[in-house]
Amino acid sequence: MLGSSLNYMPYAIVIGAGVVGAATAHALTVAGAQVVVLEGGQVAAGCSAATFAVDITRVKTPPALFDLALASVAEHARLQRADADQAWVHPTATLEWEETQADRQRLRERIRRLHRCGYPAEWLAPQRVRAVEPALAMPPQGSDEEPTEVAFYPEGGWYDPPAFVRALLRRAKRQGASVHVNDSVIGMTVDDGRITEVCTASGQRLTADVVVNCAGPQAAGIAALAGAELSVRQIAGMVAITTPVHTGLQTILAAPDLNARPHLGGRVMLHSWLIDRELEDTPASRRRALAEELLRRAGTLIPMLSQATVEASRVGLRPVPPDGLPIVGFPSEVANLYTVVSHSAIHLAPILGVLAARELTGDRQHRLDPFRPTRFRPGADRPQAVDESTRTMLARIEASNGCETADVR
Ligand SMILES: Cc1cc2nc3c(=O)[nH]c(=O)nc-3n(C[C@H](O)[C@H](O)[C@H](O)COP(=O)(O)OP(=O)(O)OC[C@H]3O[C@@H](n4cnc5c(N)ncnc54)[C@H](O)[C@@H]3O)c2cc1C
Repeated sequence: MLGSSLNYMPYAIVIGAGVVGAATAHALTVAGAQVVVLEGGQVAAGCSAATFAVDITRVKTPPALFDLALASVAEHARLQRADADQAWVHPTATLEWEETQADRQRLRERIRRLHRCGYPAEWLAPQRVRAVEPALAMPPQGSDEEPTEVAFYPEGGWYDPPAFVRALLRRAKRQGASVHVNDSVIGMTVDDGRITEVCTASGQRLTADVVVNCAGPQAAGIAALAGAELSVRQIAGMVAITTPVHTGLQTILAAPDLNARPHLGGRVMLHSWLIDRELEDTPASRRRALAEELLRRAGTLIPMLSQATVEASRVGLRPVPPDGLPIVGFPSEVANLYTVVSHSAIHLAPILGVLAARELTGDRQHRLDPFRPTRFRPGADRPQAVDESTRTMLARIEASNGCETADVR
């Protein structure tokens, strides 16, 4: 592999300036590499700007991914401690409950699994839920609608991805990286199984030891420019941001068919799988109505939201590998094209960036072995999602005909 034969620090082109590109570029510069970041739009303007952006450790399986998720929380915290100017980590507890028998059973299994791993998770009695989250309208005590099994995760929190991207790219630039925005990669010359030239829309022609594909939902298109195959689904999702309002919301709520969390400046961020299901059949001009519907639903859970309006709504394309696990490493076809693409990448980007950079500067990372691109055999059936969060997402989004999942190969 490229890294193991290096006796100098590589010159690397990183394609994409979302959370993954920023984390990887930063870690590469810390390791001593010379880095150029090529971004087709603005920094942090892709999926990383249209995301719910919470810590999802509790739903990350199998164990190799759960361990990466824990390590990435620690890496977020470490990077945050070194940056007084930008705050992107917002520690916040999570409350979660389910409605159907099957979903409640899955939640019980999740809590048992987390207890076995020593991850903090507990059940709260209804009166404790009212104390922990006064913003929540709980059905009357003892009524049939009152959720009796509410899980409480005291750790975790939400992230501010644009602040993360800005902070890491600023630090990377201080270490000598250059960042080119509004300059899409449009072509690559491949000679004898290696990329020898990267061409951009503005006419730049660049050479590098390694090209790092951090293009998120567009990663398959970048791989194709080099003649490599990468399977990444694009799964659309919407978040709505309210105007500032005094809800007193203290926690991240993972309720049946609704997610809500505090956002910057007293705002609240909302997400629902039911709304995501509607996206494909809804023209962009009518998406505002979906965001209003999201706020209306949230108002039944958090009554103070009746005093808010929708300030912004955003639709992002999640980059989702076929089995839900990150894809990190060299594809078999091209010797110097390295891929870092992942669902749940707001959470996972810091650790993926660090491990990728160590590998690209000569130190193979066996922790990445379960996530190699070579695990997908060409022409094989689509593998089952093995990550619990991806399984849940696909089950909820594909539960109706209106799913928006585009297969990009
Ligand atoms: C509704 C929703 C909720 C989510 N909730 C969570 C959550 O709670 N927790 C979590 O961790 N994750 C969550 N995610 C997923 C997470 O947002 C994504 O995994 C993450 O943003 C992907 O980051 P990225 O850097 O890989 O991609 P992006 O942010 O999309 O960055 C890729 C960049 O590559 C650039 N690019 C593409 N093609 C080219 C080219 N040819 N040349 C140059 N540049 C190019 C793009 O312009 C873009 O800026 C959610 C996503 C959505 C949509």
